[in-house]
Amino acid sequence: MKCPHCLNGFHSDKSRYVIGSDIDGEWSVTYEECPECGKFIIELEVSEVSGRSPGKIFQAYPKGVSRTQVAKDVPDKFADDYKEACLVLSDSPKASSALSRRCLQNILREKGGIKSGDLAGEIQQVLDSKQLPSHLSAAIDAVRNIGNFAAHPIKSTNTGVIVGVEAGEAEWLLDVLEGLFDFYFVQPAIIQRKRDELNKKLGGAGKPPMKSP
Ligand SMILES: [Zn+2]
Repeated sequence: MKCPHCLNGFHSDKSRYVIGSDIDGEWSVTYEECPECGKFIIELEVSEVSGRSPGKIFQAYPKGVSRTQVAKDVPDKFADDYKEACLVLSDSPKASSALSRRCLQNILREKGGIKSGDLAGEIQQVLDSKQLPSHLSAAIDAVRNIGNFAAHPIKSTNTGVIVGVEAGEAEWLLDVLEGLFDFYFVQPAIIQRKRDELNKKLGGAGKPPMKSP
């Protein structure tokens, strides 16, 4: 299994502690420790006593699955929506997708420098501007198809509204946001730090600084 804390894979070996039975079935707590990060993964499980239908599992700890850590170069207003979208993903892919769509729209408007309209049109403008590397263009383009915008136009016209999601849509949106964070915030910040360092050296040697883009 994949550890929801650190995302490393390991061989699962759960311990089980039975709480007791109610009208829904037998309840138990299962837990195991990730050998990589040393953290517990705790689930609550209920299984029908007959054992005919599969039980239900509720992940208790950690709440939600960790994805990549958001770099501190990503402004809070974008990072906050993303983090919340990750947090609610397992409980409500619909709510997660709504947060992600709104975040995507805000990034495209603010960093993509496009005219605001509906999300489908904004995506098209960004694609037409050719400002993104091809893998990101393709990923954003797919948001419209995976989300089936044709059947759910409200996803485009009112991005934060909670509507039905297609399989894999919520995860895809998070993937897209991670790619855009890297492109618009993380990579430029890395280059800027290197530029500052270089300019310091140039200044120390009595030379003019590098030109800014
Ligand atoms: Zn772990």
